[in-house]
Amino acid sequence: MSKVVTADFSVQLRSKTIETLTTENFDLIIIGGGITGAGIALDATTRGLKTLLVEKKDFAWGTSSRSTKLIHGGLRYLKQFEFGLVHEVGVERAIVHNNAPHVVLPEKMLLPIIKGGSLGKRLSSVGLWIYDRLAGVDKDERRQMLPAQKTQELEPLLRKDILEGGGLYYEYRTDDARLTIEVVKTAVAHGATCLNYAEATEFIYKENGYVKGIQLKDHLSNKTIAVHGRRIVNAAGPWVDTIRNIDKEGIKGSRLQLTKGVHIVVPKERLPLQQSIYFDIKGDSRMCFAIPRGNITYIGTTDTLYGKMEDINRPVANRQDVEYILNATNYMFPTAKLSITDVESTWAGLRPLIHQEGKDPSELSRKDEIFYSETGLISIAGGKLTGYRKMAERVLKFVCKTLNIKPKCITEQLKLVGGQFDSDTALDTFIQQRIGEAKQIEATPSQIIALSYKYGSDIDKIIEKAFELHTTIQDPSLRLLAAEIWYGVTYEMVSNLCDFLIRRTGRLYFERPSLEKTLPFITEQIANLLNWTTEQKAAALKEFEQEYELVMQFRSE
Ligand code: FAD
Repeated sequence: MSKVVTADFSVQLRSKTIETLTTENFDLIIIGGGITGAGIALDATTRGLKTLLVEKKDFAWGTSSRSTKLIHGGLRYLKQFEFGLVHEVGVERAIVHNNAPHVVLPEKMLLPIIKGGSLGKRLSSVGLWIYDRLAGVDKDERRQMLPAQKTQELEPLLRKDILEGGGLYYEYRTDDARLTIEVVKTAVAHGATCLNYAEATEFIYKENGYVKGIQLKDHLSNKTIAVHGRRIVNAAGPWVDTIRNIDKEGIKGSRLQLTKGVHIVVPKERLPLQQSIYFDIKGDSRMCFAIPRGNITYIGTTDTLYGKMEDINRPVANRQDVEYILNATNYMFPTAKLSITDVESTWAGLRPLIHQEGKDPSELSRKDEIFYSETGLISIAGGKLTGYRKMAERVLKFVCKTLNIKPKCITEQLKLVGGQFDSDTALDTFIQQRIGEAKQIEATPSQIIALSYKYGSDIDKIIEKAFELHTTIQDPSLRLLAAEIWYGVTYEMVSNLCDFLIRRTGRLYFERPSLEKTLPFITEQIANLLNWTTEQKAAALKEFEQEYELVMQFRSE
């Protein structure tokens, strides 16, 4: 198998790239560095198009770092008879897993069947059967229906008095922001130019009124430059309509309806689940996920309309959202008795859905839609993390048609960087080998496993760096952390604390309490690598503190 080599992708090389932009004419400019834009960039560049992706903040800064982090077919969409959607994303699950097995892992999901629940025994059984068939799931991974006692044995924390049985089926779990950065890195390795902290502020038009470029504000140098492209795609997620509004044509036809979804994080010992659970929310027709991950369990989500007056740039989990999830969890797992003080972290994201008159947030379709403006601007909204590759294929089909070219889409078989394993067994063997080798750097097996599920085969670069740091950093854990930071700065365009602690590693969400100890070390390391002045260091810390306060805001309300 041909291996794609991770390209140098660092902020130090960025200014050179920016300088060359004004003289280039790209085939395609993509606005938005979430999973949708990243997928489009990868598809475009591997079809041979000269591609530029611009992201106003960091890659995955928007919704793509704030989802439930599942690569799933969407069981609940069966209730809305969205068979086509379930089929498409169901099939895509396996493709995304195959292309990035290190960040997309099979996950057993338990669906408890309860008295008065949204699906009875028979409907759950039929629903899961259809779900597996639509997704073409392998025989040994198909759903198993269980009696109440067996369900209880599998998950002793479940509420006994209402339990009638359970369904066990397969989904995949991921880290949304890591999946996004792996797609971006793969696009870069295949020749795309991808820039974070670069905002499209205006369109440039031809005499005939067609878009021919954008004004790009580089937030790191504060310069604005004109960049030209033959086609422009707006993949700005919740900001799709904001971008359509800066286009001359404005918003015609369908528009977005944003809904907010919140997750909470509790220590694993406060909700020590045996596997992921997808459970009914009492008094609501909605359902909720509880997902164990490392030393924590995260639970979510809510689904509430996000009003026009609310700030798209700062969705936040408020006390009411947190209490809603706590109540639902305490009902289903009554011995847990979770309280607000157990909540260690939160995140809130906005679903960029297509508005449908009179529908409740949970009833709004998750289908994607492409909008074409008479100015030539192509916008894509809706959809799911899981379907990103297929969405990209649809966009590129249209883009290529307008360019009168017919290159093939090759992403179905394209491994992402770090994910060059033929099977899960090959990945397991790789991890075992690295656990053996990493004894030399005094890394524990759990540290190596965690790093492998973030960086895949690129963990070798981190281990090598940690080895190099042997003489300069005595503490083995800090040495490994320093090597991980170095990797982020060199290969993942980390340019501040938030990039590293939120999007590249999820530490603010999943390891928030431990940050009090490691934050000074992490700051020092990034500051040294990026030659920060005292003022830059203070600004980066301040920015991180603001994010920290945001995820903990519910406690002060
Ligand atoms: P975004 O990730 O928001 O990316 C758009 C980007 O555009 C942003 O980063 C933004 O900064 C950038 N941008 C905006 N304006 C500009 C500009 N002027 N110039 C440059 N850049 C700009 N899907 C699943 O498959 N599985 C799940 O488990 C799942 N759970 C979810 C749970 C919640 C609570 C939510 C909210 C969504 C969930 N989804 C899930 C859906 C999925 O997360 C989204 O569909 C997906 O992340 C949207 O990606 P995007 O790239 O379209 O948008």
